[in-house]
Amino acid sequence: MLHSTRVTIPTLVRIKPGALARLGIYLGRGQHQAVALFQSAGLLPEISGAVHDSFRSANISAVRSVDVSQNDFEFAVAQFRDLPASARAIVGLGGGKALDVAKYVAFLARLPYFAVPTSLSNDGFSSPQSSLTMDGKRKSLPAAMPQGVVVDTSTCARAPRNLTLSGVGDLAAKFTAIRDWKLAFHHAGERVDDFAALLAESSAQAFLGRPLLDEQGIHHLATSLLVSGIAMEVCGSSRPASGSEHLISHALDETSARPRLHGLQVGVAAYLVSLLQQNQSEAIGNMLEQTGFWNEIAADPFSTAEWLEAVRRAPSLKENFFTVLSTRDTITEVEAALRTDVYLKRCFVE
Ligand SMILES: [Zn+2]
Repeated sequence: MLHSTRVTIPTLVRIKPGALARLGIYLGRGQHQAVALFQSAGLLPEISGAVHDSFRSANISAVRSVDVSQNDFEFAVAQFRDLPASARAIVGLGGGKALDVAKYVAFLARLPYFAVPTSLSNDGFSSPQSSLTMDGKRKSLPAAMPQGVVVDTSTCARAPRNLTLSGVGDLAAKFTAIRDWKLAFHHAGERVDDFAALLAESSAQAFLGRPLLDEQGIHHLATSLLVSGIAMEVCGSSRPASGSEHLISHALDETSARPRLHGLQVGVAAYLVSLLQQNQSEAIGNMLEQTGFWNEIAADPFSTAEWLEAVRRAPSLKENFFTVLSTRDTITEVEAALRTDVYLKRCFVE
């Protein structure tokens, strides 16, 4: 068996324009009258205003409200320690750090957690892990899936463009992660959970077939990132969402002089890896072209030397994790691709 514990998935899912203004109603339906709110520091006043108005009109009280600007493990634990006993649910509002801290506090307190991302920069908002830092290093800690996920698509459509493009990059990873998983089956006998793979890939396919960042596109992007988190919970591993492209990104986080947004690294790595896998490269490249992802990267190109080093290190980052990078020495192919591929050559400097 790949997992033995019970699978929990969000039972309240709202992905639509204006969902923020209805957050109080959603919480009230679950009898969550008293909540602790963890929101990103510097959140736009119109966003926090909409949430507080919706709380007021639904008689929800925020028994604690914390502005989050860091995602240290110690900070999250202190928030759990200071949590008022009256809190019946935890709400995370804003970007990755606030959501990761809120999710971890909810996990420690065994309280229902509601994720309310205001941008779609990666699939972390609905995953069963919290990404927190310990001694300055990013760690992925076990946590609980949210009970509710509320995505206001008009708010997310107005988020800074590089955050949305980072989400597109994280979505691109589903295609390569699933191919890596199948390679691990063929080469190393690792069992594939077909249903989890189908969930992650089919939801990403909806965006791939129509790679535009209008409101419908934002809806597809949010759905795909949400479902990818659920796919991880279903099979009890990160395989459906994370393969060699994530290893390359993790290696960059460790060694690059200036690591970039997770999904910007992952998206470029996914396309690169798709070339090695001979897997949907044309569709992935086109998706990144149509969304403006390549332009975003080309405006601030990556270092070729850093990427070659990251590709070299990537296979050793995770034990017993077979990917396309384990099938052969790929450095010569990667070097040629960074230099000559129609998309990649714009995105790299010496
Ligand atoms: Zn990711």
